[in-house]
Amino acid sequence: MASAGGNGEEDARKVVLGVIGGSGLLKSAMFAPETMKEEVVETEAGFGKIKLMRKELNEELDIVFAQRHACDVEKDYSPPHLVNFRGLLSAMKQVGVNAILAVCSVGSMRHHIGMGALVLPDDFFCPQHILTTFDDARGHNVPGFNDALRTEILTALFRSGERPLDGGVYVNSNGPRFETKAEIRFMSQCGEIIGMTGAHEATLAKELGIPYAMLAIVDNMANGIGPQLTLEEFFAVQHKNQPKIENAVHVVLNHFKAYPEVLLSLDGDGADASADDKAPSTPASPKEVCDEVVHAKSVVTVDAEERVLENHAVAIKDGKIVDILPSHDADVKYGAFSSTTTKVVRLPDSVLMPGLINAHTHTPMVFMRGFSDDLPLDKWLTEKIWPTEVRTVSKDFVRDGSRLACAEFIRGGVTCFSDMYFFPESTAEIIEETGIRGFPGSIVIGFPSNYAQGPAEYLEKGRKMIEDYSGRTDRLKFCVAPHSTYAVSEEDLIKAHKMAREFNLPFHTHLHETEREVDDSERGDRSSSFCHQCDKKCRPLRNLLDNGIVDEHFVAAHMVHIKDDEIKEYAAAGAHVVHCPTSNLKLASGFCPVQKIVDAGINVAIGTDGASSNNSLDMFQEMKLAAIMAKGVAKEPCAIPATQALRMATINGAKALGIADQVGSLEVGKQADMIAVDLSDLSCLPTYHVVSHLVYACNRHQVSDVWVQGKCLMRSRQLLTIDAGKLRRVAEKWQAIIAEVDSNHDGTYQ
Ligand SMILES: [Zn+2]
Ligand SMILES: [Zn+2]
Repeated sequence: MASAGGNGEEDARKVVLGVIGGSGLLKSAMFAPETMKEEVVETEAGFGKIKLMRKELNEELDIVFAQRHACDVEKDYSPPHLVNFRGLLSAMKQVGVNAILAVCSVGSMRHHIGMGALVLPDDFFCPQHILTTFDDARGHNVPGFNDALRTEILTALFRSGERPLDGGVYVNSNGPRFETKAEIRFMSQCGEIIGMTGAHEATLAKELGIPYAMLAIVDNMANGIGPQLTLEEFFAVQHKNQPKIENAVHVVLNHFKAYPEVLLSLDGDGADASADDKAPSTPASPKEVCDEVVHAKSVVTVDAEERVLENHAVAIKDGKIVDILPSHDADVKYGAFSSTTTKVVRLPDSVLMPGLINAHTHTPMVFMRGFSDDLPLDKWLTEKIWPTEVRTVSKDFVRDGSRLACAEFIRGGVTCFSDMYFFPESTAEIIEETGIRGFPGSIVIGFPSNYAQGPAEYLEKGRKMIEDYSGRTDRLKFCVAPHSTYAVSEEDLIKAHKMAREFNLPFHTHLHETEREVDDSERGDRSSSFCHQCDKKCRPLRNLLDNGIVDEHFVAAHMVHIKDDEIKEYAAAGAHVVHCPTSNLKLASGFCPVQKIVDAGINVAIGTDGASSNNSLDMFQEMKLAAIMAKGVAKEPCAIPATQALRMATINGAKALGIADQVGSLEVGKQADMIAVDLSDLSCLPTYHVVSHLVYACNRHQVSDVWVQGKCLMRSRQLLTIDAGKLRRVAEKWQAIIAEVDSNHDGTYQ
C-alpha cells in the first residue's frame, strides 16, 4: 500500500475513487444515501458548497460519490447547463480523490450504437462554453480522458463479460434542451455520442490533475438518428438500462477494490500514460488489431454453402480475410471506431461480395472501343482491327490501354483478369502499378507484329517475361496465350502448351468461336483464314485433344460450337470454358450451350472479351446475359440460375486460373479481393434476394468500393491508384492516332 508520505505515525492514506453519476444513477441502491456519509465541502476557490457522499468499500479504498445534478447544496436539482461543475471538481480535489469515474447517459449519433450500449469514449468535442478553474491563475493543460484509467475500466468490464465499445468521441452540447436534427447532422461529423456534461468535467479534472474517464450508456438515439422519444419514453428506456449501468459500475468498483494501487499510479497530467507496468495483472486493451473492418448489410460469400450473411463484417489483415462475423461482434472484437491501427468502414446499404474475375479479355483494345462495329467477322478482323493494330500497337499503346482498362475494371467491380495481347510486359507493369490482380498472356500469333517477328520470338519473349516478372507480387501471374488454332500452327501450339506445363500456367486460347472456324478446319480448307493451321481434316478441338493439349490447364474462350460428344471428352480432360456471351452475339458467332456444358461438369467462367467486340468491360452485364441467354438457348427458365451465374463470374474464374484456393469467394484465410455493391438505389427496391439483384437488377455503377489483396483501390467510387483525369487525355491522344492510321493504311497486316 502506498502511504501519504512515509510518516509511520499517521494512518496509511486511503485510496479515493471519485464517482460522478447522472440521472441514471440517481435512484441506484448502490449509492443510496443511507449507506453513505454526507460531506459538505466549502470550496476554497470560491466555487460554492458541494455535497459529496463517502462510502468505505474496504480498508484500502473509499469512494466519494456526487450526483452532478444534485451536488449543489443550494438546489435540489440543477439542469445540465447550470450544474456547478467548477465547484464539483474543486470539491473532489479538496477531499483528495485519486481518480474519477464519470457515469454519463448519452445519445447515440450512429445507427449501429444502439440503446443500452456501453461506450468508453477516448476523446471529446466541446465547441462552446468551455469552463475553467484558471480564471485568475496561470495554467495550461492538454485536455483529454485519462487513457490508462480508461483501459483499466475497459479491461475490468471485458473480464466480467460486458462488451463495451472501446473508443469514440463524446460531443458535449450545451443543453438543457435536446439538439435539433440539423445540429445532430453537424455534430455527428465530430463524434459518435452526445451528452451535456462530460466535457466540462473532463476539462476541469485535467486542470486539477485528477485522472478522469467516462463510462457512457446510450439512453436515446439522437434527433433524426432514431425514433423520436417522448420524455416518458426516454425515462422508460433509462429505467430499463439502469440495471445494466449499475452492474457495470459495480464491476468497476470491485475491480478497484482488488487493485486500489492502480488508482495511485495514474498520471493525472499525461493522458497517454499507461498503467500496464504498474499493474502487471491487468492485460492491455482487449481489442484485437486488424487493418480494416468492413461492415455491410449482407455478405455474399460464394462459398461452398452459398452463404449470404446479414449484418456481418469482414476483417482484413495483411491482405487476407481474417474474420467474417456479425457486426456487433466485430465492434466488440476489433473496435467500433477507426483507430490508428484499424480502419472501420460501414456500408449499411451495401453487399460485400468477391471481386469479379474477367477470365477472357484483351485489355489494350479499349482504344478500339466503337472504332468498328456491325461488320462481317472476316472483314472486321482483316480490314479494320488487324491492319490498325500492326500499325499502332506499341509498348506505350499497351501500357496506356491496360491502364484505362484496369480503371474500367476496378470501377466495375472486376478485381482479376486474364489477358491476351501484344507487349504483355506492359500490362504486367500496369498490374503492379494499379493494385489489381491479373494474368497477362504470353501471346503467340502466326504473323509478325511490332512486338515479335514470328512464333519463336513470341514464345521467347513470353518466357523472358514470365521469368523476369515472377515473384514481384502475388497479384501478378501469367498465362500462355496462343491466339487460336487458325492463327497459330499446330507445332507452335504444342510448344506453347509445353511452356504452360513447364511454368504451371493456364493455357489460354480462343476455340470454336465461329462456325467457319470449325467447318473450314473439318474440310481442311487451308485457303480460309479460319482453318486450323494443320493438314488434318478435323474439328480444331479434335486435333488439340489428340495432341494432348487439352488438360486441366486448358482454358478455351468461347466454345460456341461444341457437340455433345465433344462436351463429354472435354469434361473428361478437366479443361475450362470461358463464356463470352456479348462478344458471341455481337460478332454473330452463335449461342454457347452453357447449360449442357455445365451439366457435363465442365468449369465455366465468364469473360468480356476485348472492348472492340463488346464494347464494354462490364462483368455485371456479362453475368446477367450469361444467365438469361442460357435460359433462351436451353428453352428452360431454370437454366443457369442466379447463384450459378455469380459463381461463373467469381469462383469459377479463379478455378480456371488455378487460384481458387486464394480468391473467388469470401472465406477466412483467402485474399481479400472484395467489392461493395450499393443496393440503396431505387432500381433495387425491394430486396427479397440479394443474389438475384446482383445478377438480374444491379449494374456496375453501383459498385462503390473495391479491395484487392486487402488494399482499397476504390473508395466511394473514387479511384485511389489511377488518375482518372489523365486517362481521359491519353484516350483522346490514341483516338487521334488510330483515326489517322485508319484513314491512310493499305489494308495489309501480314
Ligand atoms: Zn497443360
Ligand atoms: Zn478474345
